[in-house]
Amino acid sequence: MNQPNEIAVQVSGLSKNYGAVQALRGVDLSIGAGEYFVLLGPSGGGKTTLLRLLGGFIRPSAGQILLHGRDVSEQPPNRRPTSMVFQSFALFPHMTVAQNVGYGLRLRRLPKAEIASRVDAMLELVGLSALAGRMPHALSGGQQQRVQLGRSLVLEADILLLDEPLAALDAKLRKDMCLELKHLQEQVGITFVHVTHNQEEAMTVADNMAIIANGELVETGTAQDLYENPRRRFTADFIGENNIFDGRVSGLTSGGVDVDLGFAILTVDAHGQTPRVGDNVSVSVRSELVRVLGRGEAPDALLQSVPATYGEAVYLGLATSHVASLANGDAIVARHISRGDASDVFEAEAQVTYAWPRARMRLHLS
Ligand code: ADP
Ligand code: MG
Repeated sequence: MNQPNEIAVQVSGLSKNYGAVQALRGVDLSIGAGEYFVLLGPSGGGKTTLLRLLGGFIRPSAGQILLHGRDVSEQPPNRRPTSMVFQSFALFPHMTVAQNVGYGLRLRRLPKAEIASRVDAMLELVGLSALAGRMPHALSGGQQQRVQLGRSLVLEADILLLDEPLAALDAKLRKDMCLELKHLQEQVGITFVHVTHNQEEAMTVADNMAIIANGELVETGTAQDLYENPRRRFTADFIGENNIFDGRVSGLTSGGVDVDLGFAILTVDAHGQTPRVGDNVSVSVRSELVRVLGRGEAPDALLQSVPATYGEAVYLGLATSHVASLANGDAIVARHISRGDASDVFEAEAQVTYAWPRARMRLHLS
């Protein structure tokens, strides 16, 4: 088993250019052994590039990759402690489920009996024992994905690399498979590095995650850290539904950092950051923390409030988004739990007050 503090992946100054395209720029990243780690970010950000660099399918333009303490930067895939689950299923169409799962072991020329017992155990683990003799074309998407997983896991690599493993599945199946992946990782105990652009998927499976965009590592943390306390404006924008206000630091007081939006001043906690007066910064607050105050309801001192012109309600089932515009024309959104009664109805163009707890605002210096 892995030592508690062992590092599985240590990447420093990692860059990759494809001709003039800088796909990855100076990434530093550390992943603990036995972690379920997610690389999350928008399409084109460099996630697949980073994963392929870890697996050895492409070579870095600069930087170093240590896997379990060993420099593998110049090693081919088969000399690395990694196994990859590719984005497309790519099963061998002329082989049964069991033959697909055993393929890598046959390549390694392991004894027949050992192959058979390892394949059996793997089929059991991924829930495919009953389908061992099926051909891939007779499997559902979710079953095909389990075969892929089995085929990679049976090789007993220390690090499993998964590139958008659930992207081809429909939403409901993706949710179920997410939990299966999480439980599978807990059972096998090896390090998973899972690439996705889907925030919900990332939050479901990740012990820790890194946000990757424009070839750079934006921020790392647990799902809860990044959701509750995003440091970077990009993270606040990408994770959850945040209202983001851009402004300028107009004062630093014992009460916090004053951020002038032009039509209002927000006073926000610095959370250990050190802004200077005059800096361009932004402030975020999640839409589910924002309330539209009813007529005659005055905000108390713990609330930050701003005047807004009410626009419309967007019914989302569990929640209803109340969209309004601020004095500078920007939209602001308050997401209330749907009540289905008149207490939550506001007139278009009405002058309303949007308010939220001061302590829940986050300051972003960049
Ligand atoms: P992601 O997986 O986050 O969507 P990628 O790592 O696939 O991002 O791509 C990062 C950037 O590198 C994109 O701009 C993409 O177009 C570019 N890119 C990826 N692979 C190649 C390639 N083989 N040749 C040229 N450009 C590439
Ligand atoms: Mg990709």
